[in-house]
Amino acid sequence: MKNGVVIIGAGHAGVQAAASLRDEGYDGPVRLIGDEAELPYHKPPLSKTFIKDVDARPQILRADSFYSGAGVDLLLGERAIRLDPAAGRLELASGASLAYDKAILATGARPRVLAIEGGLLAGVLSLRSIADARAIRVLAATVEDVVILGGGFIGLEIAATLVASRRRVTVVEAQDRLLARVVAPAISAHVAGRLAASGVRVMTRTTVSRIEGDDGHVSAVITSAGERIAARMLIVGIGVVPNVELAADAGLAIANGIRVDGQLRSSAPNIFAIGDIASYRHWLTGGDVRLESVQNATDHAKLAARAIVGHGDSYAAVPWFWSDIGDMKLQMVGLTGGSDRQIVSGEPTDNRFSVFHYKGGRLIGVESVNRPADHMLGRRMLAAGFSPSPEVVAAGDGSLKAALAAWQAAQPHPDSGRDG
Ligand SMILES: Cc1cc2nc3c(=O)[nH]c(=O)nc-3n(C[C@H](O)[C@H](O)[C@H](O)COP(=O)(O)OP(=O)(O)OC[C@H]3O[C@@H](n4cnc5c(N)ncnc54)[C@H](O)[C@@H]3O)c2cc1C
Repeated sequence: MKNGVVIIGAGHAGVQAAASLRDEGYDGPVRLIGDEAELPYHKPPLSKTFIKDVDARPQILRADSFYSGAGVDLLLGERAIRLDPAAGRLELASGASLAYDKAILATGARPRVLAIEGGLLAGVLSLRSIADARAIRVLAATVEDVVILGGGFIGLEIAATLVASRRRVTVVEAQDRLLARVVAPAISAHVAGRLAASGVRVMTRTTVSRIEGDDGHVSAVITSAGERIAARMLIVGIGVVPNVELAADAGLAIANGIRVDGQLRSSAPNIFAIGDIASYRHWLTGGDVRLESVQNATDHAKLAARAIVGHGDSYAAVPWFWSDIGDMKLQMVGLTGGSDRQIVSGEPTDNRFSVFHYKGGRLIGVESVNRPADHMLGRRMLAAGFSPSPEVVAAGDGSLKAALAAWQAAQPHPDSGRDG
């Protein structure tokens, strides 16, 4: 290997891949290409704290010294524009052409655009990058009325953050409940109730049909019900589109993201795809997924680095996610699609409870509000393949912990079958 590894995209997945290659002992050249001009940073704080505090600085993923210390050639403000898998070359917009032995695509995703009248007015914003967060922060400091289109995690985090800064905030959601695709109805109802109590106006089964402007700047939105809501800022949070163009143009298989195998290898054997752009068959459910979380990006990166140095293990991380919406820390573990029974443990009225999801009698996921211990137990149970009975869950935390311990004690020791 003389040309080394080129990593395209310097976000959560790309930076971790560079670090993990070195952790795994890879000693060839590592180049990390990012089209943003500044040091790679954590995205989660953008919607939770950064947009409300004018003095907040980006939280960088790694200090500048990490890259030089680890021998990682970090090329910032450089956009990759063409990938040639047969020749093993990558072209950059600056004109450079880089030869590689292995490439890791970690180009993430971009916000879905709202294609309606008025969608291009100033003040219509979305949040993915630190540049987006700065634009929101600057405008939020001067406006009173904010409409957020989309009741997903990012939209609701922004709503909670801005209402705490005394903005008038309306959330407009097309589904019949908030977070409809990602959490149990009990959690949706709880989040909606608490947001409403904090002053956020929550509208479900509603969308925005038209945006009105004044001098080129958004002034109001017209809802599908015909209501006119004043808005000097409209934040569009209706999901993301994976950045697969580079891979698609290079002929790689695409299916709601870049299709990868259990080792994160794309249809071109020397090219891996990790993080938000990777679509794969999940070991936990056997279903195809494309997940958007820091955990997914980080664990993918670690596994791709291991595959590059020659380890044969397949992806087997338990998926988890968190979101902070005002005074609610939501933590989710597992994949809960197809859940057919839900057991609530704890008290929603205390703002502390969890929903345990079952499918066909097996535990498939746990969603918690301010119950980090349940979340950690959920991670341990799913990793171990242990499914407590719904009765044990309903009995409360003590019984659950004890049931897991008893189950683990009864498992054969990993070494017990070996020849001495
Ligand atoms: C506001 C916000 C809050 C979030 N909060 C949470 C949270 O609380 N918990 C959680 O688990 N997850 C959260 N997420 C999701 C999480 O940040 C993503 O899942 C994660 O960033 C995915 O990592 P990635 O490396 O795949 O993509 P990204 O982090 O998006 O990195 C991709 C990088 O590649 C660059 N790039 C794209 N194309 C090119 C190209 N052609 N050439 C060079 N560079 C390119 C992009 O500009 C970007 O810098 C949040 C995301 C956002 C936006």
